[in-house]
Amino acid sequence: MTLAQTTSKFTERIITDLPGPKAQALLARDAQVVSPSYPRDYPFVMDYGRGAEVWDVDGNRFIDFAAGIAVTSTGHAHPQVVQAIKDASDKFLHISSDYYHELQIKLGEKMSRLAPMAEPAMSFFTNSGTESVEGALKLARYVSGRSRFIGFLGGFHGRTMGSLSFTASKFTQQDRFFPTMPGVTHVPYPNNYRPLFAAQDQGQAVLNYIENILFQSNVPANEVAAILIEPIQGEGGYIVPPDGFLPGLRELCDRYGILLITDEVQSGVGRSGKMFAVEHWGVQPDIMTTAKGLASGMPIGTVTARKSLMEKWAPGAHGNTYGGNPLCCAAALATLDLVEQEYMANAAALGDYLLGRMQDLAQRYPLIGQVRGKGLMIGMEFVEDRESKKPAKKFVSELIHEAFYNGLLLLPCGVSTIRFMPPLMLSRELADEAMEIFEQSIKAVSDRL
Ligand code: PLP
Repeated sequence: MTLAQTTSKFTERIITDLPGPKAQALLARDAQVVSPSYPRDYPFVMDYGRGAEVWDVDGNRFIDFAAGIAVTSTGHAHPQVVQAIKDASDKFLHISSDYYHELQIKLGEKMSRLAPMAEPAMSFFTNSGTESVEGALKLARYVSGRSRFIGFLGGFHGRTMGSLSFTASKFTQQDRFFPTMPGVTHVPYPNNYRPLFAAQDQGQAVLNYIENILFQSNVPANEVAAILIEPIQGEGGYIVPPDGFLPGLRELCDRYGILLITDEVQSGVGRSGKMFAVEHWGVQPDIMTTAKGLASGMPIGTVTARKSLMEKWAPGAHGNTYGGNPLCCAAALATLDLVEQEYMANAAALGDYLLGRMQDLAQRYPLIGQVRGKGLMIGMEFVEDRESKKPAKKFVSELIHEAFYNGLLLLPCGVSTIRFMPPLMLSRELADEAMEIFEQSIKAVSDRL
């Protein structure tokens, strides 16, 4: 099947072959000048977006269940966010983190109030998720005086050398980049659907492994600065850990004086139906990273830490030029207001609704091995059959393309999982329309393969 041969049955959305003529011309130019390292799954060429819908340059309309990789939390071009950016840009575009300005202070205050920490929090402002992770690692080393770390197989924390040392969701992310930062030991992420340990409770098994095997063999606990974990694993497959696991990890950290860093870059800012995903388990991290959904698409993240930790950082110990950019801070403040007031509750309610609809689909399509998630962070894992649980990789790849041709943007994660991460303001009507497209696409691919 070549791309241009595909004509959608959803003609009210898709009015040209895909990619259309204008998109094809832009793709040809892109191929000459843009790095081929970006993993593009299908040729969507954006023209504009409103809410949870996007239009391509040929006038085709798509429902956006990818949200720019879990970023456009308030939807595309939310008027309040756009207005906040316009107001800020009328005043100044940049002053640098060497100076002070009120929007940055306000965002620090807001993060302190929202952070799932018993004591007040302080924030360092970054430009991306990976930079937030780098900052968290440096803070952990600086305040603990220890140098080792523990990370998780399947984890994704970014692509710069420090965060890349932890990233372990796909072989290609590491291939040809060694040596990365030394001192990082990976352990399995507990996964009840694909258990690695012969134990009833995979969470407890991982905790036992860290404490009774790792700490007793080649990782002295008193050298470990921090454990870095995604409260819900993102790129690795949208895996929700068993209930006791994160509280158990917190206790383990406390027993050995190890800092707990939760990477909320993907799961944070309302996406899971709570402001931060750790709140589902009542766990308090020492350091937390954010980015992605924080400012609805403007590039900003934070390293947010207990005040008693971050206030130990001496001036010059860490810094950057663009941190706390006023336009980004304005967008983050508007986003957090909207998420707090309305969209977090919508993510929880609509997430439950979608999870139910997807579980219903799983009853009818045996290729669906498991549906899991919290709020609007839902993963659907496809298998060749439910007994062997062999990942249905080809099916997922075809399904994502088919959904695109029918007007639905989706992205994969893990080995054979589709992740559903629409903007948090998604309406029930669009959710239903998306599910209709999705089911039609499953049928079409099942018939074809
Ligand atoms: N941490 C997590 C949990 C992520 O999902 C990602 C990106 O997908 C990152 C860190 C890196 O973020 P960025 O791509 O903004 O550097």
